[in-house]
Amino acid sequence: MSFSPSIAGSSAALTDLSTTLATPPADAFARLGATFLTRLPAAPLDAPYLVGFSADTAARLGLPEGIERDPGFLDLFSGNATRAWPADALPYASVYSGHQFGVWAGQLGDGRALGLGELEHAGQRYELQLKGAGRTPYSRMADGRAVLRSSIREYLCSEAMHHLGIPTTRALCVIGSDQPVRRETIETAAVVTRVSPSFVRFGHFEHFYANDRVDALRALADHVIERFYPHCRQADDPYLALLGEAVRSSADLMVEWQAVGFCHGVMNTDNMSILGLTIDYGPFGFMDGFDAGHICNHSDSQGRYAYRMQPQIAYWNLFCLAQGLLPLLGEQHDESVRSERAIEDAQRVLAGFKERFAPALENRMRAKLGLEQTRDGDDALVNRLFEAMHANRADFTLTFRNLARVSKHDANGDAPVRDLFLDRAAFDAWATDYRARLAEESRDDAARAIAMNRVNPKFVLRNHLAETAIQRAKEKDFSEVERLANVLRRPFDEQPEYEAYAGLPPDWASSLEVSCSS
Ligand code: AMP
Ligand code: MG
Repeated sequence: MSFSPSIAGSSAALTDLSTTLATPPADAFARLGATFLTRLPAAPLDAPYLVGFSADTAARLGLPEGIERDPGFLDLFSGNATRAWPADALPYASVYSGHQFGVWAGQLGDGRALGLGELEHAGQRYELQLKGAGRTPYSRMADGRAVLRSSIREYLCSEAMHHLGIPTTRALCVIGSDQPVRRETIETAAVVTRVSPSFVRFGHFEHFYANDRVDALRALADHVIERFYPHCRQADDPYLALLGEAVRSSADLMVEWQAVGFCHGVMNTDNMSILGLTIDYGPFGFMDGFDAGHICNHSDSQGRYAYRMQPQIAYWNLFCLAQGLLPLLGEQHDESVRSERAIEDAQRVLAGFKERFAPALENRMRAKLGLEQTRDGDDALVNRLFEAMHANRADFTLTFRNLARVSKHDANGDAPVRDLFLDRAAFDAWATDYRARLAEESRDDAARAIAMNRVNPKFVLRNHLAETAIQRAKEKDFSEVERLANVLRRPFDEQPEYEAYAGLPPDWASSLEVSCSS
């Protein structure tokens, strides 16, 4: 394909970038064809302006420094430039289905996301996607737009998660416009450029299973295996091995979420990445005061996606994925027993979730408590801490961060964490046992504190921090988005100049509500 989509006044680098995006390699998702995706240009976005830009993600993509100041940058990442692209190079919306809130929802698909293409840098390949770029054939009754508020939240959180070391899609930029978008009130439109090795979801597999398209199902599974898990090809059953990878990566992701008090809010199967990445930031939240049953999504009245449910839900979602893969499984078995064996195989692989998740979470919690060795009572010690935190609604992030100040010798360092518990006696009782346990460790307080501060972040994207940045951005002051993004880029560092970003939320934060409407 020879195509040079030059944008008036823009640099050669930006023209090259557009050309690369519009000419995907042979094994790109975009090349899977019309069964999987529909090509169309982005809807026009009026007078776009830059709201947020991640220099870190840009560097990851190998984009030249300062590219965000290129005249063509807004044109490309608002989607406007794609209107001049040739038909066979246009952005694409993919089709998928899924289970929403435990119920089969049938066909969904990229209702407001358009794949822009792929970039390769330093041996890594990334797909770029414009979220909020207008209606697609999968928009159903909705408008294909995203609002500024939710776009800033997605931008900040995906970058924050990455810097916490949690697998996630990333964000390159947020581009805003004064174009009105109707939600509960009139808001304005924005487009986030998301970046990920793949945007394939469990729901993609479910879609072709439900439509009895075994050929397409196989092509999709082959795409994921070839691109991301080539070693699965060597297994007796490559597709079972792929399921195993999804089980492993999803279990690992749940450890990460639980360990920082992150609630996703909409763990529908169409929001589960086949690579085990955090994807589709909507009504997510980092907990302030710990509540095991915390529901961050105002629309989730049953609490299906409450904090304590997340690992179980991931497991449930993996069953949906397994069902979707079933037509491909068990080819190595004799035809007469194939379907029976395939189910047994899948069940065995699915059972691996618990075997991986539980010990991994225990290990993580031990690290969060600064324990290097393993003792029988560790689990109970952790559980009792969570019970006390829950009863006192103790701040999740600060409790763990401040535990590093507790000394194994005396109670002098207890105050910062103790003060987070209204029931001081309950904390003291636990701290006595914790100290006794610390006494069994060989590490001294200082060394333990350093290690703990590497696993217990000081800074997370608390709702009120995002809200403050959003309110300023609505007044066209984007400096707080940038500042907050920068603070969250170093979540484990002390950054004393940003102490306020690590503090307890203000009273008004408890009235913040986040729903699916984004
Ligand atoms: P979610 O659970 O928010 O990830 O979205 C569920 C489905 O609704 C997906 O297929 C989305 O693409 C679609 N969707 C959500 N919001 C919109 C919107 N404003 N316009 C079109 N489709 C949307
Ligand atoms: Mg979604």
